[in-house]
Amino acid sequence: MDAPVIVWFRRDLRLADNPALSAAFQTGRPIVPLYVLEDTPDLPPPGAAGSWWLHHSLRALGESLAGAGLRLILRRGDPEEVLSAVVARSGAGAVYWNRRYVAAAATLDTRIKAKLRQGGIAVETFDGALLFEPRTIRTGAGAPYKVFTPFWKACRAAPAPRDPLPAPPSTQSTGHAAPDDAWKLASDDPDDRRLAPRNPDWASGFGECWQPGEAGAAARLSNFLRSDLERYAVDRDRPDRAATSRLSPHLHFGEISPHMVWHQTRMRMADGAGTLATSGEKFLAELGWREFSHHLLFHFPAMESGNFRPEFDNFPWIDNPDALRAWQRGQTGYPLVDAGMRELWRTGWMHNRLRMVVASFLTKNLRIHWREGAAWFQDALVDADRANNIAGWQWVAGSGADAAPYFRIFNPVSQGEKFDPSGAYVRQWVPELAALPDAVIHKPWTASRALLAEAGIVPGQTYPCPLVDHKIARRDALAAYDTIRGRK
Ligand code: FAD
Repeated sequence: MDAPVIVWFRRDLRLADNPALSAAFQTGRPIVPLYVLEDTPDLPPPGAAGSWWLHHSLRALGESLAGAGLRLILRRGDPEEVLSAVVARSGAGAVYWNRRYVAAAATLDTRIKAKLRQGGIAVETFDGALLFEPRTIRTGAGAPYKVFTPFWKACRAAPAPRDPLPAPPSTQSTGHAAPDDAWKLASDDPDDRRLAPRNPDWASGFGECWQPGEAGAAARLSNFLRSDLERYAVDRDRPDRAATSRLSPHLHFGEISPHMVWHQTRMRMADGAGTLATSGEKFLAELGWREFSHHLLFHFPAMESGNFRPEFDNFPWIDNPDALRAWQRGQTGYPLVDAGMRELWRTGWMHNRLRMVVASFLTKNLRIHWREGAAWFQDALVDADRANNIAGWQWVAGSGADAAPYFRIFNPVSQGEKFDPSGAYVRQWVPELAALPDAVIHKPWTASRALLAEAGIVPGQTYPCPLVDHKIARRDALAAYDTIRGRK
């Protein structure tokens, strides 16, 4: 009866609204919290920026668990082997976890569950990561959705997401034995794990922008709801205004659950009608896109590496390592694109409008395969998420489900003039252009020599000339698309 319960933490690095942890507390048995840094071909560890985040998030989780009287055990390796070893060493009788949905992870979890059960260990799994689990939302014909709008309509017609659970009380107050007294389980030291990027050490500035961990996530949500939600519908596309929640890395690592975001947003919406309600619905629909991406990758796992639309298998992509590098470094000569790529490099995050613009530039203006862009994002984003990232890239490239029509090729100049009209965003991230007047900040090649000289700009030296001519690149991209259009 007193055999401990292992709570296997994965993308749920929190105490509040953690169904697996709450259920473990309810058993009244000792608890062993475990995190395994998975390192297998199917489940590689996070990229460099995500590793920085994970490192800090695990420290925060460890501290919160310590406050509840529990010691987080950290291990690295194949989770199947690690779990067997920790079960054997602790004498655990049960393993609890919150479910995950990316195919490789879900398949592994099913295998581990079967193996543990065969060995007489109870396994219970819970819903902690999505508002609507992929199996529960189906078309009338029982098929998975491929288009966002009917998908989200079906979600909204389904039973509302459950209420969030409170954080469990400390083990002292509940009388649970402190497991660490009973079993001296070996744990890696989080500081020895060398998670943060070192070569190059580009993450040194991340700490100024982010507070990984549950407390940081809760603070960000409450600030956003209080100060920014009301103008979200109007300003969410403006990178020059910090109007979005920036909750994505917190949601990715599960430092806050979508249920908490959902319920607190609904409560805030109840404070007023009009713009608050409109903005609230818009914000909830963005959470809906997160659900949709996970739904797609769950039902169509092949899209993780291949095109959702098979005709794109014949698309004439261009292999151009120099152009790819210029894009990665924010040296394309298009100020808006460069600003986005440099924001990514400096902060590990990029505004959604910019993600669309830079992805369109890479896949359509440069015609470089979306996989190259997705790989760069996967390494450089603190919120790098296999489902959202792949779905986002395929949406922009035109190869995805419910993708943007191919002819929608973002013009980096007009996008800049529309969404960064004063050039404030470009000036922040591309300071060598800061002295240019607003009228030419998004197209410095149109500035007169005198103006460039006055702003201290030498084209091709202090700032690159445009890598491609947008008009020509657009024409060529459409011609390339014509070669595959209608083919299956
Ligand atoms: P908010 O506008 O405040 O939205 C709230 C939450 O809703 C976000 O935190 C996120 O979880 C979710 N969300 C919002 N927009 C989207 C969307 N279009 N698709 C899926 N979920 C969304 N998001 C990631 O979390 N990880 C990624 O790796 C990722 N890669 C992307 C790649 C490309 C090419 C594109 C176009 C989009 C990508 N997105 C990704 C989606 C989106 O850009 C980010 O979720 C968003 O910019 C995060 O900022 P925020 O938290 O301020 O968003």
